[in-house]
Amino acid sequence: MVWYRVQIALVFLMPAILLAGLYVFGRAIPVPYLGRDYVIRFELPEPGTTVGLPEIQGPQDASRPLVVIDAGHGGHDPGASGLGILEKTLVLGLARDLRDQLLTEGGIRVALTRDDDRFLALAERVEISRALGADLFISIHADSAGDREQVSGASIYTLSEDASSEAAARFAARENDADQVNGVVLSGRNENVNAILVELSQRRTSDDSAQFADLIIREGEGQLPFHTQPRRSAALGVLRAPDVPSVLFEAGFITNPQEAQRLTSVDGKRQFALTMARAIRIFFARSSVAV
Ligand code: ZN
Repeated sequence: MVWYRVQIALVFLMPAILLAGLYVFGRAIPVPYLGRDYVIRFELPEPGTTVGLPEIQGPQDASRPLVVIDAGHGGHDPGASGLGILEKTLVLGLARDLRDQLLTEGGIRVALTRDDDRFLALAERVEISRALGADLFISIHADSAGDREQVSGASIYTLSEDASSEAAARFAARENDADQVNGVVLSGRNENVNAILVELSQRRTSDDSAQFADLIIREGEGQLPFHTQPRRSAALGVLRAPDVPSVLFEAGFITNPQEAQRLTSVDGKRQFALTMARAIRIFFARSSVAV
């Protein structure tokens, strides 16, 4: 009879015994941690920085001129290619060397539109330079000549006159209350006045862009191999900011083996960075922005 009661008691107590057993077992043999951390951590931007805009490097003095260097292409868009070298990689190397050269010499603030392998739309590149308040914008590319391997040399593009006035008209017509040109807020003004303001700004910007393009050629003489027709203009979307002097520098032809090799070599990149930094410095010394 006693045994029977013990059996009944065991039946009722079994779940508690099992639980206690599991508890003891779990403590004795800890479940492996496996590095899992159920807290998601991410870095918040520093107060005062704008999310999505690249960092400005160099002197922390907003009165210093700011160059925005734009390495073309990136991410899923490799640009031109030749001999296993991709344009997006080559131009990022040039952009970084130019930034480093400018920072070493000092006095000029620098930002890269991209410092890694990411895709940016053309309009984003323009907007970055405007949002940061750039004084100069340089987009770096490398050309392709298909299978004509012997074609070589750098060229500099500025926005063509037609494209320039078209861009000004389009910018003036854009309904955006936040828009301003050279510090003048366009909202709440007469449309015609806005159109004239933008047109004037664009014209001055075109003149400055042309002056900088000529400086690159002058300073690059004997330093950088140029194409036989190095000064060009075209309707390039990345040069459409109405208030930031902008040039597109085609560093050379990636389809030419010697040139591709030079533009990815330490010496070749250095030569480019030295020449371009000198042209930038002269440009700022000439303009009202003090260096
Ligand atoms: Zn390109």
